Amino acid sequence: MASKFQAPRGTFDVLPEQARGRARVQRVAAEVFARAGYEPIATPAFEDTELFVRGVGRSTDIVVKEMFTFEDKGGRSLTLRPEGTAPICRAYLEHGMQKLAQPVKLFYAGPFFRHERPQAGRYRQFHQIGVEAIGTDSPLADAEVIGLLSDLLAELGVPGVELRLGSLGSPESRRGYLEELKAHLRDNEGDLSQDVRERIEINPLRAFDADDVGTQEVMRTAPTIVESLDGEDAEHFAEVRALLDAAGIAYEIDPTLVRGLDYYTRTIFSFVCEGLGAQSEVGGGGRYDGLIEQLGGPPTPAIGWAAGIERILLALGEEDAREGRDAFVAAATDEQRHRALALAAELRNAGLSAEVDLAGRGLKGQLKHADRIGARRVLILDDDGTAQLRDMDSGEQRPVDPGRALEELGA
Ligand code: AMP
Repeated sequence: MASKFQAPRGTFDVLPEQARGRARVQRVAAEVFARAGYEPIATPAFEDTELFVRGVGRSTDIVVKEMFTFEDKGGRSLTLRPEGTAPICRAYLEHGMQKLAQPVKLFYAGPFFRHERPQAGRYRQFHQIGVEAIGTDSPLADAEVIGLLSDLLAELGVPGVELRLGSLGSPESRRGYLEELKAHLRDNEGDLSQDVRERIEINPLRAFDADDVGTQEVMRTAPTIVESLDGEDAEHFAEVRALLDAAGIAYEIDPTLVRGLDYYTRTIFSFVCEGLGAQSEVGGGGRYDGLIEQLGGPPTPAIGWAAGIERILLALGEEDAREGRDAFVAAATDEQRHRALALAAELRNAGLSAEVDLAGRGLKGQLKHADRIGARRVLILDDDGTAQLRDMDSGEQRPVDPGRALEELGA
């Protein structure tokens, strides 16, 4: 009987068939990152609430609407991490990583939590992989981290990927632009959604991200930040573009690109996959040159990105794959079961995948079970010390010397 309990809304179980595809994504990612000298890091699943309020931004959707916040028994306010960058910056400062050779290049993978309305590709517990290069403002770092995500998606075989690129400038140069943008929004206030209208003063950039048709119409004629970049910001952006061109990484400049977190400065980017529908972004990120200072550290420019593992798997259209077995060792009689187990162990030691019956099935039942678990060949041990090797695809069976089982199975 099914239990009355279900996984909480917006969460899911990762069953063995799905766990394999996930493990591959993580394995390939770790390889791609290691080749470029990025080191693994892991931080706790929850942090002081204030870290996200200050880091991600008081007026962002994440902080206003989406955090899983709770009080612990000591009366502290804690929050299940909605993102990985603020925690890593906290760890960077806490462990004095500014004393290490800069930039410090890190990667991570793990679960994140946002109380969003669940839909395909959007969950309340999801998993991200991400990288951070902390301690450099060089455009070379921008090109390197963007290149890592591009390489990873290519190596995984994610189809139909496009890179959108923008720049938010530095906070000083953005100030003038934001005034222009606010003036445009105020001039068209009547056509904006209530949500956007209420946030003209505190977060006008978010209007570019609105789903509402009226707001989108207003934003079509809005001034864009990319057009208003000047001085070092414009130079930095030009250099990033030149480096991507030189690396053969195709991109499209998207002057309306904004991201849902306040800490971004200068370069921002988003990898989208057309096949994904409404939640089309597989990964994205940007520079956050002011975040570490905002968390109480010295001025430390940095850049990074995060990609959603579920989105990557959706984009890959990954079927739930069950891996086959190289061999199943069947016992024709109960007396042969201990031999079957020993032989399976020998095969495993030689690097083959092998299983035996653990449920007391008769020979017929064992063959049926071997077929169900996708065993390619079955070695049947007979009482008289002989054995038969059965090919499960062709159904052919022939006598073999059980002493030569390893060779027969190609170990
Ligand atoms: P963000 O941390 O918002 O910049 O998002 C980075 C990536 O994480 C996105 O491109 C998605 O692939 C993934 N992501 C963000 N939020 C969710 C969610 N609620 N469910 C599934 N994946 C998500």
